[in-house]
Amino acid sequence: EHQAALAARSKDNLRSPICCIMGHVDTGKTKLLDKVRQTNVQEGEAGGITQQIGATYFPIEAIKQKTAVVNKDGEFEFKVPGLLIIDTPGHESFSNLRSRGSSLCNIAILVVDIMHGLEPQTLESMRMLRDRKTPFIVALNKIDRLYGWKKVDNNGFQDSLALQNRGVQNEFAKRLEQTKVAFAEQGFNSELFYDNKQKSRVVSLVPTSAHTGEGVPDMLKLLVQLTQERMTDSLMYLSEVQATVLEVKAIEGFGMTIDVILSNGILREGDRIILCGVEGVIKTNIRALLTPAPMRELRVRSAYVHNKEVKAAMGIKISAPGLEGAIAGSRLLVVGKYDDEDDLEEEVESDLASVFSRVEKSGRGVSVQASTLGSLEALLDFLKDCKIPVANVGIGPVYKRDVMQTGIMLEKAPDYAVMLCFDVKVDKEAAAYAEEQGVKIFTADIIYHLFDAFTKHMAILAEKKKEDSKMLAVFPCVLNTVAVFNKTAPIVVGVDVVEGNLRINTPLAVVKTNPNTNQKEIISVGRVTSIEREHKQIPICKKGQPSVAIKIEMGGHQPTYGRHLEESDALISQISRASIDTLKEFYRSDVTDEEWKLLIKLKPVFNVI
Ligand code: GDP
Repeated sequence: EHQAALAARSKDNLRSPICCIMGHVDTGKTKLLDKVRQTNVQEGEAGGITQQIGATYFPIEAIKQKTAVVNKDGEFEFKVPGLLIIDTPGHESFSNLRSRGSSLCNIAILVVDIMHGLEPQTLESMRMLRDRKTPFIVALNKIDRLYGWKKVDNNGFQDSLALQNRGVQNEFAKRLEQTKVAFAEQGFNSELFYDNKQKSRVVSLVPTSAHTGEGVPDMLKLLVQLTQERMTDSLMYLSEVQATVLEVKAIEGFGMTIDVILSNGILREGDRIILCGVEGVIKTNIRALLTPAPMRELRVRSAYVHNKEVKAAMGIKISAPGLEGAIAGSRLLVVGKYDDEDDLEEEVESDLASVFSRVEKSGRGVSVQASTLGSLEALLDFLKDCKIPVANVGIGPVYKRDVMQTGIMLEKAPDYAVMLCFDVKVDKEAAAYAEEQGVKIFTADIIYHLFDAFTKHMAILAEKKKEDSKMLAVFPCVLNTVAVFNKTAPIVVGVDVVEGNLRINTPLAVVKTNPNTNQKEIISVGRVTSIEREHKQIPICKKGQPSVAIKIEMGGHQPTYGRHLEESDALISQISRASIDTLKEFYRSDVTDEEWKLLIKLKPVFNVI
């Protein structure tokens, strides 16, 4: 058996590469997939393109036919047995195709709308591809929208471009140049695919149209070329099984099932499998290995075909007891003849632990919740780059207990009493509870939208804090009363500023020493609600400036001149620890050296330590 495995592991016996499609919304990912999948019956195109679970398989015969128009001399050699393209576009599927931090996706197509250039999700995809070191090509899509474009369906790009008039060619050249500059700004060198002499270091740009099919043959050829030139090692069969759970779904007649991409090795009916579950590791035996029934067999009772065994690369549905709570994005391990089940269990557990342990040690941070292990990891990577601390992580729908967990932050760090939820549902009761407690829940299907929501939330909080702090920010001043116009609420007096500067809203106090007890007594007088000179309102009166008339108001019972305080008492800014901290946090640049000195002088007066 070992000999056979060694023989199988050779450069002439490659498995099919796995390909994902990524890019910004509306760039044409779905349409491009449709175009690639489309079997052109009239032209007698090769069949054999098979719909799998979560993926489409293109045997090399089908690819040969689809690329014939750009391989007229037949010189290009096909070495891989086929290509497995993941059907769900977007980075959810990409991020779930993971194994120990590396990607099971061998190559990706990053779709860019040639009319729009790089958009936010394009950048996000590029970051993920870079992090996982996944090679990719760029489909510069919608070339048929270049003004005046004359189409030839399913043509090779170079032939089509040659048919265009000068104006179209110029516009294409201009947009190509803009794209290259945009890629360079992101740290990627890029080049039109047929001018690219260093395919391993420079990203290839393939102009395509998902509507006319132009450039699609070039794209397919390039995918095959790149994978077989660059990745023969990772495309050799391993004896070890490599598989990942892409989706977890209940199916009538089968109960809970998992959709799995088998990227290496062989799976057999009855195999003992180990994977991550929300309640811990799941260990079970494969009951059925299912693939979709071919179209013509739809009259058969089941929509699925049962397989005794399947070989990579392949998208399959697995039915087995105990799959409830299985986590999408989890690795799936098979217990082989010589494997220790406990070792494998530990390995799967460590996958979960490595993601769940990525929380802030201080315990201060937001909560995040994602649909799958892969997307959770992607979200955590993203938040790390954005320097947003994370205190709690979870997988699956948001329930009340998750909100309660986040609620702890209301005490510790209220700004972080926030749940960032990616592609998950929020339970009704949980939403109501969050509302009641003041926990903010943001949900999105696009990771960067969560960042936008959180950034906006923080900006609003900061603005509110500064607004709130207005009343807490007390600038120091000492006033002498020169006239009393109104003895009692609201007090109106004429004053001179003898120290510091008097601003509107400043709370004032007088400090007296009780002659009997010799105890210091602080009498709050109220806040300055108006400052007037010559019947004109002014916001500030500085030390040494002419006298002003001020109104002092107070929420509660205001002291009265002649009873609680005298004209001879100095009115002093009533400072506190909190007011000094507020000045330091929000108004540092507004406080003069002289004012800091005065603050230090006033601290003992108000017993501020
Ligand atoms: P996705 O969100 O990336 O999957 O984008 P879709 O495949 O849903 O396409 C978004 C829109 O762009 C649809 O209206 C498509 O018909 C259109 N579209 C996609 N590809 C092309 C193309 O190559 N040319 C033109 N003119 N329109 C396209």
